[in-house]
Amino acid sequence: GRASRSAPLASKLLLLGTLSGGSLVAYSDSNKKEDQQQQKKKKKVVVLGTGWAGISFLKDLDISSYDVQVVSPQNYFAFTPLLPSVTCGTVEARSIVESVRNITKKKNGEIELWEADCVKIDPTNNKVHCQPVFKDDPEASQEFSLEYDYLIIAVGAQVNTFGTPGVLENCHFLKEVEDAQRIRRGVIDCFEKALLPGLTEEQRRTKLHFVIVGGGPTGVEFAAELHDFIEEDITKIYPSVKELVKITLIQSGDHILNSFDERISSFAEQKFLRDGIDVLMGMRVMSVSDKDISVKIKSSAEVVSLPHGLILWSTGVGTRPVISDLMEQVGQGGRRVLATNEWLQVKGCENVYAVGDCASIAQRKIMGDIANIFKAADVDNSGTLTEDELQDVVEDINVRYPQVELYLKSKHVRSIKDLLTDSEGNPKKEVDIKAFESALSGVDSQMKSLPATAQVAAQQGSYLAKCFNKMEHCKEHPEGPKRFRTGGHHQFRPFQYKHFGQFAPLGGDQAAAELPGDWVSAGRSTQWLWYSVYASKQVSWRTRALVVSDWTRRYIFGRDSSRI
Ligand code: FAD
Ligand code: MG
Repeated sequence: GRASRSAPLASKLLLLGTLSGGSLVAYSDSNKKEDQQQQKKKKKVVVLGTGWAGISFLKDLDISSYDVQVVSPQNYFAFTPLLPSVTCGTVEARSIVESVRNITKKKNGEIELWEADCVKIDPTNNKVHCQPVFKDDPEASQEFSLEYDYLIIAVGAQVNTFGTPGVLENCHFLKEVEDAQRIRRGVIDCFEKALLPGLTEEQRRTKLHFVIVGGGPTGVEFAAELHDFIEEDITKIYPSVKELVKITLIQSGDHILNSFDERISSFAEQKFLRDGIDVLMGMRVMSVSDKDISVKIKSSAEVVSLPHGLILWSTGVGTRPVISDLMEQVGQGGRRVLATNEWLQVKGCENVYAVGDCASIAQRKIMGDIANIFKAADVDNSGTLTEDELQDVVEDINVRYPQVELYLKSKHVRSIKDLLTDSEGNPKKEVDIKAFESALSGVDSQMKSLPATAQVAAQQGSYLAKCFNKMEHCKEHPEGPKRFRTGGHHQFRPFQYKHFGQFAPLGGDQAAAELPGDWVSAGRSTQWLWYSVYASKQVSWRTRALVVSDWTRRYIFGRDSSRI
């Protein structure tokens, strides 16, 4: 009765609110009570990290049904693929970041954000311990702890020096926005130092020797940015130094960009050769000092020493201490990343999820599972499958292991069903799992873990949010759809990664791209594709506008080389 009586009033107030600018919120008594009950029932979700995985989770989560608390040492999200562009001022640092509070304010509900590092995860007591970032303010640096019903770990990875002496002290890294800003100043410093009176030519050359360790996407992109900066802007304002500058890229393997198609690797190598960027392959860095970097040539075991002005260390990623500590606690000690199941739950703790660079889905041996799928489908235990049972097998395999079908295609078998039916489409009299296994021999070894990219992190965050949005509903209907029941009674479809390809900007308005369907392209048109994709992927219209205007400014006025 009460609810219906107050409804007309509420709608009038709401109308008034809308007319007066929408700031007035109408609440009837009964609504308030319902809200309070909801508040009591709301589960506590704690999210660690506001990078690709954390933000895509928050963006897609229905935060009105959870009590959400976020812990991150940064109160912003950074668009990492544009970090290399920040190092030379092609885009400004503020253009690639968006405040977390801005991103979530549009949502129906509120989140709490604490600018702090999570220093310890305690899964036994469902607690996390945090240390605010303001270490020199005694009032604002008190440790605190948060309780959770669900924990989402999205803290990413950190740089990895592989224990090489001198790297931490003498190299730049490119992981955070501050790193990119430091590099920008560092590069300009090298030019200003080289111009000072009293230096020998040798000393000037050393100041202007830029060394990049690591031939992955980050190192290659930085080399390209730096080369463009020097060609397009620096030589105009420091004409006397052009002959003295040198860029060297050191790579331990036989090719740069070796996670890309080999056509792209060789395109990049040839472009760098034309640009005069020295690419040294098959080299291993032994140690670094403030003056020299010493490298071992793998083939001859000879060690050479190169004087340098600035070094960027961009090889591989390592584990954050808070993750190493958690892995020890849950019996995953010694691993590099947290192992999760296909629903992104950390193995050993059901209510803890891990997404992005700090996690990896443990690849189960497919073949063992497939035997179970056959067994589960063969309801009458006859050892042969009826047509319906066969349908179940095919569906189960396709849902849980989409890569099986891809693998069979690579072996010119059109589909799983083709393999298990005769020419008329009826199930073979005896569906022999051994035959199926032999057709699939090799599939296990072909299963690689997912790459540590923004693309994977964002898809995982958004997948998890969708699961969370449906979680309550699924608790009420635990039976779930039939096809997800095999192997572990889980209410959701397992996480599946969709690869949309990858880009490698190579400078001089040229980029290379690897797109789905074995499609490779390189050159100027690909650079335009890169511009449009990267503009469209921005988290907000504000950053999109800023990034596009930075690109335009660069075209018209060039990059700014003031050291601020
Ligand atoms: P991150 O995005 O690193 O986020 C981690 C978050 O956790 C941060 O907010 C951090 O502040 C926070 N955090 C750290 N420690 C703690 C703690 N103790 N407690 C709480 N919070 C913590 N990928 C692509 O797909 N395409 C590209 O073109 C591309 N280019 C890249 C270029 C560069 C220079 C770099 C460095 C990376 C690039 N990547 C690219 C990779 C991509 O950035 C990562 O894979 C992605 O950021 C991983 O997302 P994440 O959420 O796991 O971690
Ligand atoms: Mg994250």
